[in-house]
Amino acid sequence: NEKEVTCIGCGIAIQTENKEGIGYAPPSSLEKEQVICQRCFRLKHYNEVQDVALTDDDFLKILNGLGKVDALIVKIVDIVDFNGSFLHGLHRFVGNNPVLLIGNKSDILPKSLNPNKLINWMKQEAKELGLKPVDVLLSSAEKGHHIQEALAAIELHRKGRDVYIVGCTNVGKSTFINRIIKEVTGEGDVITTSHFPGTTLDMIEIPLDDGQAIIDTPGIINRDQMAHVVNKKDLKYVMARKEMKPVIFQLNEEQTLFAGGLARFDYLKGGRKSFTCYFSNDLEIHRTKLEKADDLYERHLGDLLSPPRIEDLESFPELVRHEFSIKDEKMDVVFSGLGWITVNQPGVKIAAYAPKGVSVLVRKSLI
Ligand code: GDP
Repeated sequence: NEKEVTCIGCGIAIQTENKEGIGYAPPSSLEKEQVICQRCFRLKHYNEVQDVALTDDDFLKILNGLGKVDALIVKIVDIVDFNGSFLHGLHRFVGNNPVLLIGNKSDILPKSLNPNKLINWMKQEAKELGLKPVDVLLSSAEKGHHIQEALAAIELHRKGRDVYIVGCTNVGKSTFINRIIKEVTGEGDVITTSHFPGTTLDMIEIPLDDGQAIIDTPGIINRDQMAHVVNKKDLKYVMARKEMKPVIFQLNEEQTLFAGGLARFDYLKGGRKSFTCYFSNDLEIHRTKLEKADDLYERHLGDLLSPPRIEDLESFPELVRHEFSIKDEKMDVVFSGLGWITVNQPGVKIAAYAPKGVSVLVRKSLI
């Protein structure tokens, strides 16, 4: 057995097999005297944080570590995928540490959505999921909106302690951290360390003026996210990049909408009614008759109804049907991580379909 090579930046064991994994360095780098992992390399040279894939074991190590420190926990979620990116169960591990909840990607919300209403909804939803955050904020890491506000809230709630940033992959955690690095250090040097003693998790520290630090924990993969069921090249269809533009449909009973091949919405009963779709503007919505829907999906998944791509059909999960009666309020039918359809007039029965593992839920309309 060869001696274990470790990264001079973060101390992690170097591996050369899995490019997306922790501690990756290209094989050629092993010939050098000092080896640096790809993640530290990028950080050092570009001040840029990169995602690494985590195993469930690593995830547990992070969670257990969070309970042992005295710190402010900043939990970032994707507001379009609140439930899918929530990291259920985190609150059981954080001990008495306060949690600041940030809903990222606010820039893609339709302008007609009132931010305060959304924040209230997030508070309520978090409470139902067992978390009582000290505060709830929105941000757009990509556009740099509300970053100062987030930093002010962090400063207020950390009370001189360290800050741990946690989040599921794809919520924009790296983008957020990169923004913070610029704000806090003015592009200065960032130190990397392995923070929890006895673990090999690479964490990134952004030093603060009082000797404390903001610590970025690795992104946690939730395999049930919509983003994981499509080809990486097709992410723009799943994750909106720009403000979602509402598309209104007047539907008769027994009509079906397909959002690409990723979601299906059957309007079953309730007379002629209006429905508003909020998805990535790149994703095409197709309307058809309910009686033709199964056949259309079978024949045209991968071409007319895409994503997925033809070449990915084999690994694409089957759609699972969820039926809902919407009785007396305007409601949103949410396809986790993809978008939602607002049922504008109650008194209807519908069925919503999403790939197996991806959740569908109904909430009071936010608009
Ligand atoms: P991470 O896996 O949580 O570290 O997420 P990344 O920072 O890599 O971001 C995932 C994707 O979301 C990337 O395509 C980003 O460009 C995009 N993204 C991140 N923050 C925002 C945001 O505030 N708004 C929008 N529209 N996209 C964002």
